Amino acid sequence: MSKTCAFKAEIREMLDLVIHSLYSKKEIFLRELVSNASDAIDRARYLSLTDTTIAPEAPTWGIRLTADEEAHTLTVEDNGIGMTAAELEDALGTIAKSGTKAFAEALKEGKETNIPELIGKFGVGFYAAFMVADMVTVDTLRRGENQAAARWTSAGDGEYTIDDGSRTVPGTSITLHLREGMEQYTSEWTIRDLIRRYSDFIAYPITLKTLSKPKEGEKPEEDKEDDDKPLNTMTALWKRPKSEIKPEEYETFYHHISHDYGAPLRTLHIVAEGTLEYRALLFIPKTAGMELMMPGNRHGLSLYVRNVFIGDEIEELIPGWLRFLKGVVDSSDLPLNVSREMLQDDAIIRKIRGDITNRVLKALAEMAKDKPEDYETFTTALGDFVKEGYHSDWENREKLLELMRFRDEKSGNFTSLRAYRDAMPEDQKAIYALTADTLQAARQSPCLESLKAKGRNILFLTSPVDQFIAGELREYDKMPIVFADKADTAPEADKAKTDALDAAAKTLKPLTDAIATRLSATVKEVRLTARLTDSPCCLVADPAAMNPAMRRMMEAMGQSVPEDKRILEINPDHAIIKALADEKDESRRDDTIDLLYGQACLAEGSLPPDPARFNSLVSALLAR
Ligand code: ADP
Repeated sequence: MSKTCAFKAEIREMLDLVIHSLYSKKEIFLRELVSNASDAIDRARYLSLTDTTIAPEAPTWGIRLTADEEAHTLTVEDNGIGMTAAELEDALGTIAKSGTKAFAEALKEGKETNIPELIGKFGVGFYAAFMVADMVTVDTLRRGENQAAARWTSAGDGEYTIDDGSRTVPGTSITLHLREGMEQYTSEWTIRDLIRRYSDFIAYPITLKTLSKPKEGEKPEEDKEDDDKPLNTMTALWKRPKSEIKPEEYETFYHHISHDYGAPLRTLHIVAEGTLEYRALLFIPKTAGMELMMPGNRHGLSLYVRNVFIGDEIEELIPGWLRFLKGVVDSSDLPLNVSREMLQDDAIIRKIRGDITNRVLKALAEMAKDKPEDYETFTTALGDFVKEGYHSDWENREKLLELMRFRDEKSGNFTSLRAYRDAMPEDQKAIYALTADTLQAARQSPCLESLKAKGRNILFLTSPVDQFIAGELREYDKMPIVFADKADTAPEADKAKTDALDAAAKTLKPLTDAIATRLSATVKEVRLTARLTDSPCCLVADPAAMNPAMRRMMEAMGQSVPEDKRILEINPDHAIIKALADEKDESRRDDTIDLLYGQACLAEGSLPPDPARFNSLVSALLAR
C-alpha cells in the first residue's frame, strides 16, 4: 500500500511558515519529539495495566536517539504505543487541530520570535522537525495484537505519503534528514546539551548512539562505550527536595507540561504529609491559553500513582473554575489500577481536590497582598475564573469574594470590595456598582450622574462573567451593594431636587403621558427622576429584571428571554425636557421623543429600536 495525500490546508500553511521562518532557536524541535515519545510511552504503560496484549514482553521503556554524521540524519525512537496507519494519517496530516489555523495567523502577524511559544501553545510540536529537516520519516508499529507497521514520509512541501512499514518492534521511530547547515544536530555534545537543558526530567532513559564519519585513514567508529548511559537524570521533579530545585528546572518542567513557553506566574510545589499524603507540582500561568477559550476542551491535572502515569486532564483533581491550573499530582494512596471512572467518586481524590483548592486560594490571597503587580497580571488574564468560582464553588464563596477585582470609577484600576469598603466615607451607606458591556459604556452611563455629583466611587462590572454574578452580589461586610441602574434607587440624589419632583410631576403629566403612549411598545413606565444632572433622560431596569448586558448575551446564545420593558426616567430640570413640554407641533414632539429614547439606548450600550430612523432623525436635526 502506498498513497500520497495533501496536507490539510491549515497544516500546509503552518508548515510553510515554520520552514521559512528566520527563527534561530530551531533546537526546540528535539524537545518536542522527545516529549511526544515520552507521551507515547506513558500511554503504552497506562494501557498495559488493563490490556495484557499491549506489552507482553515487559519492555524496558526508553527513548533512543541515533545521530548519523555521515548520513546526515537524527532519529528519535521510542517503544511507546505506536500508531496504526489510520492514526498516523489523522495525527500527522488530515486533522488540523483547532489551534493550527490560529497558529498560522499568529505567525503571519510577524511575531516570529515567539515560535517555540506558539508551537507549544497550539500543539503542533511534531512539525517543528521541519525547521531542521527537509525530509521526515515516521516508522511506526502500534502495540497490541495483529497490528501492521506503517510509514509516513514528507518533505514538508504540501504532501505526505503513507506506505506499509517495516518496523517489527512496537513503537515509533522518527528520522530527520537534516537540512544543509544543520549538521550540529548530529553532534554528540549538542544533543547531550539539549537533552540536559530541555528534557532532563523525562521519566524514561534517553540514550544516544552516534555514528561518526570515518576520518581519512581511520576505520569507522561505532557504538561508543557509554551508549547505554542515559543523558537525562529522569527524576520526577516533584519527588525531589524543594531546596535542591533551581527555578529554571521548574520552568523547563512547566514548559513540558503546559506547552506555554513563558514563565509561570506562580509555582506551587506541594508535599502533603500526614493523614493525606500526596505530592503535586502546580503552576498558575500568566496568560489564559488558547485551550481555555475553546469550549468543550478538557482540562485538569496529570495524575501519577507511585510514579506510574495514570492520565492527564483528570478533571476530578480540581474544581472547574481552577481549570487554568497546570501540573501533576502524585498520590501513593490510590491503587495502581485506578481507572478514570473510579476517580469520579473516590474519597482520596476528593480530599486532594479540597486540599489543592485551599492551597491555591491561599497562594492567591498572598499574592494579592504581597505582590500586587503579579495579582494584577493574574486578574487581567484569569480574574474571570475567580468570578466563575464565586458563582459555582459555594464552599469557597467567601474567599473568592475577597479575591474578585473590579475596575472602579475613580482610579480606573482593579479594586477589591474590601478596598472599596475601607475607602468609603462615613456618610455613604451602600456600595455602588454598575453593570455594562464595556468600561467606556459604564463610565458614560447617565445613571451615575447623581453619584458622581456626590463624589461617590462606583465599581464597574463589565466582563461577561460579571453579568452572571451581579445578581448574586447583594451585600458585602454588612453594606448593601446597590446597582445604579436599578429603578427604585436614585441613589444619593440631591434632596432639594427630590423634594421638587412631586410638583414637577404634576406640571409635566401631559408630557410624561405623551411619552408613555409614544413608547408603549418598549417602555413600561415614564417617570421623573432626581438622579440626572446632565442628561435629559435614562433607561433603568426593574430591580427584579435581568440586566441589559445579560439579556443581550443570552439572546446572542440563542436563548429566548422573556420580554421585560424598561423604565424611562426623565430629568425635569433639563432644557430639552422643558422645551419638549412646550412643544405644540405633535409630529416634532414625537420625533424628539424618539431621538431621546434612542440616545438613552445608546447610553447603556444598546441600539435604538429602529437605528435607521434614529439616524435620519439626527440628520434632520443637524440640517435644521
Ligand atoms: P501534540 O503532541 O501536541 O498532540 P504533535 O503535532 O506534536 O501535537 O503530535 C501530533 C500527534 O501525533 C500526537 O498527538 C500523537 O497522537 C501523534 N504522535 C506524535 N509523536 C508520536 C509518537 N512518538 N508516538 C505515538 N504517537 C505520536
